[in-house]
Amino acid sequence: MSARVLVVDDILPNVKLLEAKLASEYYEVLTAMSGAEALEKVEKEAPDIVLLDVMMPGMDGFEVCTRIKDNPATAHIPVVMVTALTDSEDKVRGLEAGADDFLSKPINDIALMARVRSLVRLKMVTDEWRVRETAANQLGVIDESSSAMDEATDKAKILVIEDKDFECQKINETLGQDHDLITIASSGVEALEHITKTDYDVLIVSLNLEDEDGLRLCSHLKSNERSRAVPIVMIGDEEDMPKIARGMELGAHDYILRPVDRNELLARVRTQIRRKRFQERLLATYEISLSMALTDSLTGLYNRRYLEVHLEKLLLKNQENRKSLAVLMIDIDHFKLVNDTHGHAVGDEILKVFAHRLMDKLRSFDLVARMGGEEFEAILPDVTTERAHMVAERLRRAIAEESFVCGAEGGSLDITTSIGGAIIDHEDHTIEEILDRADKALYEAKNGGRNCSVFEDVGKLDPEAFKSLERQKIE
Ligand code: GH3
Ligand code: MG
Ligand code: MG
Repeated sequence: MSARVLVVDDILPNVKLLEAKLASEYYEVLTAMSGAEALEKVEKEAPDIVLLDVMMPGMDGFEVCTRIKDNPATAHIPVVMVTALTDSEDKVRGLEAGADDFLSKPINDIALMARVRSLVRLKMVTDEWRVRETAANQLGVIDESSSAMDEATDKAKILVIEDKDFECQKINETLGQDHDLITIASSGVEALEHITKTDYDVLIVSLNLEDEDGLRLCSHLKSNERSRAVPIVMIGDEEDMPKIARGMELGAHDYILRPVDRNELLARVRTQIRRKRFQERLLATYEISLSMALTDSLTGLYNRRYLEVHLEKLLLKNQENRKSLAVLMIDIDHFKLVNDTHGHAVGDEILKVFAHRLMDKLRSFDLVARMGGEEFEAILPDVTTERAHMVAERLRRAIAEESFVCGAEGGSLDITTSIGGAIIDHEDHTIEEILDRADKALYEAKNGGRNCSVFEDVGKLDPEAFKSLERQKIE
């Protein structure tokens, strides 16, 4: 996986060393030798990941990290703090400043590659969601994109797979600060049982289980449908580094070395919870915004935008199969009067019932959309002229022949509708032209007295004719 890495350090040999290591793994390397230069490059070059020295004169690494994470345009870029300090206070300070990870100098090659690879992979996934979220944004809804730093990190469900009591107790005490719900499993079998019953936010896996290979367990967890997307944090000894590197390749998200530092454990677990919740939120807003962008919230019907996209596809199909489709523009008669007399709320009730009646009378592959106000449009693919006429009349009668139960005085209202129709052949047509043709027919229907159907080139349909026709041809 090729990615662009920005290396930031004020000491040239350090920059060169990291540059050489990363280049040998085929990463593209950019460099900066001060905080200010780093910020400039982050903004201009949009790297996939930043390796950031903590100790720099002027603006230090914490400051640079905070600024990257405070800027909505760069907040999603993972930052790894590189430090000579072994003080865990500093590690925690970095992670809480928004750093995604930590590396200590002298840099262990396995740790470097494992963390870079894992963060780059995570960024690829997040980037994909950001693109979709932007698309959803352009469709017109949802709030400004936010960063993972805004997510809550408490009350998470955590499964700990560890068979040593004192380790379990330490984890329990530490994560208890965040009111996490902690389940302990002392074997893989037990863990998999829990996983079938509960949706966990994080899995903590010991690589030093008595009777079991923790790495194999990680691999199981990654292939299990129920746990595949749950972040895994491994716990191992210094000499387990090769195993840890392999675990990261298998898809584990992070690791902690023994003796486990409480602050580091808390910070790393919080980071995983934050990321998972952030990704879940992106997915949820994306789905909601998509449905909001394509449907009308009052009636639940598709909206104009959807209809236009769908119609475009149907027209191509028409041309391919040399078939015709019908477009019906359906507009409630004197609807303004309903609002004026009975109030807007009653008007809304009528619109809902109206929409349902239309849907009821159409085939599953016909499309009906609310174009705005009290105007609806039905598209009937693959129809004959005769059938289109019959459907128009059926819809008109479905509205006129049964009163609308609603909150108006008297409990119901009589409603009628006018329909304008056009048959679209398999020649080349634009959406605009098609809608316009149906609209003109509708205009004639309104002028012709309302509560009637008018088709282009045919004029007003005779209700009696279609009444008897439909009786002969009950589907
Ligand atoms: P016509 O028979 O010529 O179609 O007359 P009309 O009164 O139905 O048509 P007009 O276009 O003059 O009025 C449409 C009315 O629909 C005006 C507007 O207040 C109302 N309307 C549009 N959208 C909504 C809505 O979402 N809810 C309600 N209650 N009324 C709406
Ligand atoms: Mg109207
Ligand atoms: Mg109107």
